[in-house]
Amino acid sequence: MIIPIRCMTCGKPVAHLWEKYKEEVGKGKNPKKVLDELGLKRYCCRSLFLTHIDLIDYSAKFRK
Ligand SMILES: [Zn+2]
Repeated sequence: MIIPIRCMTCGKPVAHLWEKYKEEVGKGKNPKKVLDELGLKRYCCRSLFLTHIDLIDYSAKFRK
């Protein structure tokens, strides 16, 4: 859906980094490098970004 505001494991605010991450990875950059640049060091936050799929635009089609 939407990236969580904070990492659910450690509580670090991460939502503001998502757009940047999406943009850089979309350009074909290595996700590892992008995560390093954004300062996401813990593997809990990193897995959140690596496994997230943005479904908000898809599910918005079914709103009433
Ligand atoms: Zn975390």
